[in-house]
Amino acid sequence: MRIPDSTIDDIRNATDIVDVIGAYVRMKKRGKNFIGLCPFHQEKTPSFTVSAEKQMFHCFGCGVGGNVFTFLMEHDKLSFIEAVRMLAERAGIRLPEEGRDDREEITEQEKLLALCRAAAIRFHDNLMTSVEGALALEYFRHRGLTDATIASFGLGYAMNSWDDFFSFARREGFDPALLEKGGLVVRREDGSGYYDRFRGRAMFPITSPAGRTIAFGARKVREDDQLAKYINSPETPIYNKSRVLYGLSHAKDAIRDKEYALLVEGYMDLITLHQAGFQNVVASSGTALTTEQIQLLGRYTKRITLVYDADSAGSKATLRGGDLILEQDIDVRVAPLPAGEDPDSLIRKQGAKAFQEKLDAATSFLEFRAAQLQASGAFSTPEGKAQAIRALVETVGRMRDELKRTFFIKRLAEQYDVYESVLFRELEGVLGRQQTAARAERSTPRPAAAESQRQPLPTGQPQGIPPAERDLLKLMLEHGSAMVRYVRGEIDPVLFTSPTARAILDVMLRHDEAGEYWDAGMIVDDLDDATLKRIVTELMISRYEISRGWQEMGSEPAQPDPRIMADDCIAKMQLRSLDERIAETYRLMRDSELRGEDITGFKQEILRMQRARKEVLSR
Ligand SMILES: [Zn+2]
Repeated sequence: MRIPDSTIDDIRNATDIVDVIGAYVRMKKRGKNFIGLCPFHQEKTPSFTVSAEKQMFHCFGCGVGGNVFTFLMEHDKLSFIEAVRMLAERAGIRLPEEGRDDREEITEQEKLLALCRAAAIRFHDNLMTSVEGALALEYFRHRGLTDATIASFGLGYAMNSWDDFFSFARREGFDPALLEKGGLVVRREDGSGYYDRFRGRAMFPITSPAGRTIAFGARKVREDDQLAKYINSPETPIYNKSRVLYGLSHAKDAIRDKEYALLVEGYMDLITLHQAGFQNVVASSGTALTTEQIQLLGRYTKRITLVYDADSAGSKATLRGGDLILEQDIDVRVAPLPAGEDPDSLIRKQGAKAFQEKLDAATSFLEFRAAQLQASGAFSTPEGKAQAIRALVETVGRMRDELKRTFFIKRLAEQYDVYESVLFRELEGVLGRQQTAARAERSTPRPAAAESQRQPLPTGQPQGIPPAERDLLKLMLEHGSAMVRYVRGEIDPVLFTSPTARAILDVMLRHDEAGEYWDAGMIVDDLDDATLKRIVTELMISRYEISRGWQEMGSEPAQPDPRIMADDCIAKMQLRSLDERIAETYRLMRDSELRGEDITGFKQEILRMQRARKEVLSR
């Protein structure tokens, strides 16, 4: 089966290599790149580097490198088509089945995404420009949101009308069945037509990890609104509630950076925190925390802090989530807020610093549970105490790591003056029950680490390519067609002396001559040779990144004009070529001279080349 190039491009565009690799490798942000321990060779200090900007990875330890497809092919031993299929499924892009034409299904997914995008824009416009939307805008501003935050989260307003959105979407060419499928309109019971699901509400677009709008949350803002405070989109072919975390697309970089995530309940809590500088925050809006959501978050971090607001019903559900989190072998801490406060109100009243203090004071989930039981008086009677300790051991039993379990059991024994042996016996019983249950419901395990260990390669410059050719190749890979055309206008490709450089150049030239768009990631796919792929990724991902200091200061050292850099490389290559030809001509001249022949022609030739050399030098 052949997958059209345009579909492969769609998949590439809908996929973030950092997300994909992040599911296999724990990574930290370093400058513009992410680094982690290489899954392809044994190492103690990370040299495996992923560039979000270039959508490529490269290991400076063993030399493996490529794009997102290459990673899956190498790591999971997949064929190209299998890797494409896997990423298509992840991105919600349907591929044609063999022998069967379901182009309709592909377009349905795409149409739903287009619909949600159009709806998000429409709602945002309503918020910012309509008289009626001012009500919701006032609500957001009253909650302290800046216009930049409102724009960044794409907040909006759905008009208080039965058909405003329906009519808009019809004018935009979306058909009613699609609108219903996307959850934006509801079919009338008598079948006589459709009406808008969201009416007179503040709108929160819900996005996929890659940042595409897939659904909406809608908050009540009008006094006469009889419906629930929040209404969400129903499940649709592109929206599975239990697998979506609100705000993840805004939070993923910060989560990796800070190495932990904050989990809150509501849209407004999340947005306020984000605006106050706590960007590593996600919300489980619209549902109690699910195992799928935790697994999703677990791709980015192994540490979660629950922000606990004692007064809220939702928080009790979030707390129940604490047990689920422990089961996924993720550390969970709890940051309780003062009575009557949620993150939003705390930050507005006392500022970001007060919230940071609460985070700093976060305790382990077990300690939090113990404190809660104690506060409720559970320890005041012998029966109560036995029950409370059993509940705590139950929580310890959720931990996957035996060392952690032992540590916490000893802590409990000490704290509550119970024999360790009693607690360990209790724990054994709990483990037996829980593991049977867990085994039954545990979802697909993570792919095992690669079995094959690569031989580490010597690091350093791509082998055998003269530095000027290597740098020029890098400039062309980075800047694409425009640079290739510029270079071609200046020199003949034969000046590239390295066969390796020529092979990579040829692929770029081929794309360029066909008038196709290309980038370095696509060149990687077109190279059959693994060594060539690695050279491209090593060229694209520089080992040494701008220091954090520069980034924090908000400025980067000025980059020289790429054409000036290219001119410099070209000059070096021309000089090298001229020097070789001059030396060769001298040799020929000497031979002729020994044979007593006329050497005037050689002399003229050498002079001409020396003049050319001077000219190159003077540029
Ligand atoms: Zn490696």
